Parts: sequence; structure tokens; C-alpha cells
Amino acid sequence: MKNLYCRLFNHDFIIKSEITKFVKEYTCLNCGKQLTTSDQGELIPLTDKRRETNEELRKLYIKRRKLKKNAY
Ligand SMILES: [Zn+2]
Repeated sequence: MKNLYCRLFNHDFIIKSEITKFVKEYTCLNCGKQLTTSDQGELIPLTDKRRETNEELRKLYIKRRKLKKNAY
């Protein structure tokens, strides 16, 4: 039933978490389908592998921001 809604009206995605300024994770309010931003800036399904990549990316991003802060 939930999936039918998405098929008729498209997914209703909201930002679930912001990995970096450019990479975000999205989730559909209706069916729970998850998407993320690929290296090319396209929306792709959020797989377990992709989630791991995002986690690494997030750590790197935070580290880099800290380094930047210290530089000033
Ligand atoms: Zn959906």
C-alpha cells in the first residue's frame, strides 16, 4: 500500500543526514527507501557499502574542518 502511493505520486524524500556539504542521505517518508549522493552528484540507492563509504567520508570531512579551524 505504501509502495503503491510512491508509484503513483513518486517518493517523498527528506534529508536524513548530511554527510558533507555535497553528500547527503535521503529517506522516503512513505516507504522508507533510502538514497544518497554519488561521486558524480547523482542520486543512487543507499546500499550497505555506500553507507560505509559515507561514514568514512563524514569522518574525513569533520577532520578536515577541524584542521581548517586550527589553521586560522
Ligand atoms: Zn517512497
